[in-house]
Formats: sequence, structure tokens, C-alpha cells
Amino acid sequence: MIGVAVLGATGSVGESTLDVLGRHPDEFRVVALAARRNVDRLAEQCLQFRPAYAAMTDPACAATLAARLADAGLPTRVLAGERALEEMAILPEAQYVMAAIVGAAGLRSTLAAAGSGKRLLLANKESLVMAGPLVMQAVRASGAQLIPIDSEHNAIFQCLPQSKDQSMAVCGEGESAGVRRLLLTASGGPFLNWPAAELGSVTPEQACAHPNWVMGRKISVDSATLMNKGLELIEACALFGLPPERIEIVIHPQSIVHSLVEYLDGSVLAQLGSPDMRTPIAQALAWPQRIASGVQSLDLIKVGKLEFRAPDAARFPCLALAPAAIRQGGLMPAILNAANEVAVQAFLDGRLNFLDIPAVIETVMNDVSGGPVTDLETVLGVDALAREAAQRQVAARSASPRSAHA
Ligand code: NDP
Repeated sequence: MIGVAVLGATGSVGESTLDVLGRHPDEFRVVALAARRNVDRLAEQCLQFRPAYAAMTDPACAATLAARLADAGLPTRVLAGERALEEMAILPEAQYVMAAIVGAAGLRSTLAAAGSGKRLLLANKESLVMAGPLVMQAVRASGAQLIPIDSEHNAIFQCLPQSKDQSMAVCGEGESAGVRRLLLTASGGPFLNWPAAELGSVTPEQACAHPNWVMGRKISVDSATLMNKGLELIEACALFGLPPERIEIVIHPQSIVHSLVEYLDGSVLAQLGSPDMRTPIAQALAWPQRIASGVQSLDLIKVGKLEFRAPDAARFPCLALAPAAIRQGGLMPAILNAANEVAVQAFLDGRLNFLDIPAVIETVMNDVSGGPVTDLETVLGVDALAREAAQRQVAARSASPRSAHA
């Protein structure tokens, strides 16, 4: 029986993870669940899975949860606060950790899991964007197994040479595996075919209505701006050890081909499947075996056609920002990530125009200087500086007429 801790349990990836785990009660035991403040949902999950531990970063919510679980007669131990996430990530009872917290809030617990020698199922792409070298270093030093959950990176992982050797599950083998380049597919998001002139008036609801995937609001907006693909480019460089010039972004509106690996001999291997996160989650839980995920068979005849085209960097300026951050290196991806998180939240709150998201990020990248990624505190320090700079930009822009959302 494998013990699993699910961090970000109440979110989209967390729910999909519990759906897969619930199908395999003889193989997996949920030992810990963690979230921020969705008490109702975390309580329901605790009643269903009866974990030994639950954690909520909001202390008042943790107290409410503890009272409810005690009333229900559950022995679950409830922890509170940011540090509780790290405790959940290194529990001896959990051999696997699903890192599915959204944003920079997931960095400390991801690093803790990476350093603990466990199997790390990594959905929290922001931790690799902010501190890729630190995460990969921790994985290698501890002998952890890092399996990417992001569907594109999981597809690449599946297309790379498979080996029972644990080191292959650490990724970072692209250079030595005869890989010429990676092709990272992108759906293009809800505004793929919208004229540029209409993008200035999009609402958060329109941005979150992804045509193929049901996801949390932050990643949905990232998909709409195509910043998600930029974050994934940085993520792929960190995971697979290749420079950005050897990773091509290809728009594929059907989201059936999740990504591809081209080898030196011209062979191109792809992983296909219905757009449902339970597939990469089940793959990562079972690797190197396979287990059922609940995902329907792919009906290629119904899908009919698979299209591929070049991305339009003019309509989606966020696309150019990630390569620029990689070129500058060091802490610049962390600065980009922080500015993006602030800008996306401001857009979701109705304080920033959709078209101002890339403008805020670019200005912050110009204003805040980086340096090398030496340790966690340096990363968190620049994250805080970039957030302050981004808040100033949002305030300045929301005062201008274009930025006001009704
Ligand atoms: P959601 O917004 O749906 O869920 C986020 C989860 O993180 C919730 O459980 C939330 O708890 C928790 N959380 C948020 N902030 C904190 C915090 N400060 N402390 C502790 N917990 C916190 O996000 P998604 O599931 O969509 O995405 C999760 C991660 O996976 C992201 O990094 C995303 O980029 C990545 N990803 C997601 C995909 C998807 O299909 N959704 C696909 C590929 C990658 P609460 O509910 O209590 O607020």
C-alpha cells in the first residue's frame, strides 16, 4: 500500500488526483490532504478518504475543520499555517506527494518533497519556473523521483526512453537520450481566433472558459494569455535539460496530441489522449506500470482532424516574455512569475485589463533586477520585490480608463 499526500486537494488537479486514488483503494492510501481555506470541500474529502493528517494554511479554517472532523469522530490530525504544508510534504507515512497547490505558495512544500527522496508528482509548475535549479538539485541529491503532471511535460516524459532505473524518473535526460528537440503543444486558449481589437474587452469569465480543459482560474487565465505556454517552456528547460531554442511551441487547438519528442534520426514520438488530467495523474502514480484512470477511450474518428499551426506572438505578447526571461537567466523567471501572478489576480478581480497583463509583466522584468538562483531565501526575496513592483503597475494602470472592468 502506497501512502499519498495531496497538497492542493480541493483544486482541479487535487480533485482529479483523489478521483484516480479512489479507484484504487487496494494500492493507494491517502495519508494527508492540504488546502488553503475551502473547509467544506476538505471536510468532505476527509470524510471520504479518512487521512491521518489534514492541513489548512488559513488558521481559522483549520480550527473549523478540526472541530467538524472531531464531531464526525474522525481521528485525522489537523495542522494549520504555511509550514504545515512542508510537514505534509515530508511525512514518513507518504511515499508519494502530489504537489498541486497553485502559484508560488507551492514552492516551499515542493522543495521539501523534492528533498525528501519521495516520488514527487509535480503539477505546481510555478515552483520550477521560480527555482528550477534548486528543485532539480534537491531531487538529484535526495534520490527523489520527479514525474511531471502538466499534461505536456508528462507526455514528453512518456515519449523519452523509459527505464526502471530511478534516475530516468528524474528527467533531465534530454541531452543524452538522442533528442533533437521537443514540441510543446498549446491549445491556444479561448481567444485563439479572436481579433486583436476584441481582446481589450474580455472578462474574467470569458478568459476562464477554456474550450478543452476544466482548470483552476489562475491557470485558465494563463492559458488565455498564452503565458501558460511560456511558463511551460521554462518548466521544460528545467525538467529536460534542453535550451529554449530546442523547444518549439505548436498551436494544436484539439488538445489531443499532448506534446512530442523528435529524435536525431528524425523519429517523432507523441503522446495522445483525451484532454483529462486523470491520465497524466494515473501515469505518474503507477509508473512504470499502468492503472485505470476513469478516462474514456480516445475516439479519433469523432475527433476527425488534428490541426497544428504557429503561435501568433503579436496577439499574445506573453509568449515572448518567457524566452526573454530564460535568456536573462538566474532569478528573471521568478520575477516574471511573480509579476504574472499579481497581474492575473488583478485581472480576475476586475482591476486590470486583459491586454495590460503582458505590459505589467514586461515593465516589472525591466524594473526589478535578478541575479543567480543561490538559495530559497534569495528566490523568495526577489519574488516579494517583483510583487511590490507589479502591484504598483496595476495601481497605475487601473487608474487609466482602459483598465477598468465593469
Ligand atoms: P486550483 O485553483 O483549482 O486549486 C488550487 C489548490 O491550491 C486548491 O486546493 C487551493 O486551496 C490550494 N491553494 C491555493 N493557495 C494556497 C495557499 N496559499 N496555501 C495552500 N494551499 C493553497 O488550481 P489547479 O488545480 O488548476 O492548479 C494547481 C497547479 O497545477 C497549478 O500550478 C497549475 O499551473 C498546475 N496545473 C493545473 C492543471 C489543471 O488542469 N488544472 C494542468 C496542469 C498544471 P483552496 O481551495 O482552499 O483555496
